[in-house]
Amino acid sequence: MAEQQSLTRPILARRGLMFILSSPSGTGKTTIARRLLREDGEIVMSVSVTTRPPRPGEVDGEDYHFVDQAEFDRMVEAGELIEWANVFGHNYGTPKSQIKTGLKEGRDFLFDIDWQGTQQLYQRMETDVVRVFLLPPSIGELEQRLRGRGTDSEEVIAGRMARARDEISHWDGYDYVVVNDDIDACFEKVRTILDAERMRRARQTGLVDFTRGLMR
Ligand code: ADP
Ligand code: 5GP
Repeated sequence: MAEQQSLTRPILARRGLMFILSSPSGTGKTTIARRLLREDGEIVMSVSVTTRPPRPGEVDGEDYHFVDQAEFDRMVEAGELIEWANVFGHNYGTPKSQIKTGLKEGRDFLFDIDWQGTQQLYQRMETDVVRVFLLPPSIGELEQRLRGRGTDSEEVIAGRMARARDEISHWDGYDYVVVNDDIDACFEKVRTILDAERMRRARQTGLVDFTRGLMR
């Protein structure tokens, strides 16, 4: 696969894409996203700006760009964010410049955002966006995964379960919906979507010259 990529990349230039993964919390989005970043050499995480303070272990510029409220407001005013939202009392937003430059250079960006952020990105950059929604195989399994993860208190789990039904109701705002039953099967499906979307004619900006060369 890596060999194939290094052979095809220089031949055909293409525009990058914005790959959005959303899911009700506990479905497996983070697991799938991490594996994609590890196994796919061409996709990188979009790093958001946030006014939330860093959690232990979080690195500025890697997990988020941590900014204060005044700087966030300035970025909004200056139109430097493609989209932004207030989540749990903190502001989060997607910086425009890194994405615009990266897409032109053929870089793909992975977004871990909810359905509202997805809607905003889609409204602003429709042709660059690929929206994937992950669903759990059942509500019982979702609850089990939240428990099994071992990161949340019973109270937080109850809150996530209550929100899950609302999140699930937005399934029709996505291009692809994948049920995460078996993790390996789900990952392969997500990867197949990414591979296919990269081959969309409109994204392959090098095709005009390439085909011209072939026909010469
Ligand atoms: P999310 O990012 O959607 O909140 P996580 O990736 O943190 O979800 O996954 C929640 C828990 O479920 C984790 O403990 C993860 O290992 C587990 N998990 C993810 N996918 C599967 C699967 N297909 N089958 C069983 N467990 C899974
Ligand atoms: P956390 O503080 O746990 O890292 O993230 C909280 C929530 O903010 C998550 O639901 C995450 O998807 C969302 N979020 C993170 N970055 C952005 C962003 O740039 N835009 C939007 N709309 N939501 C974001």
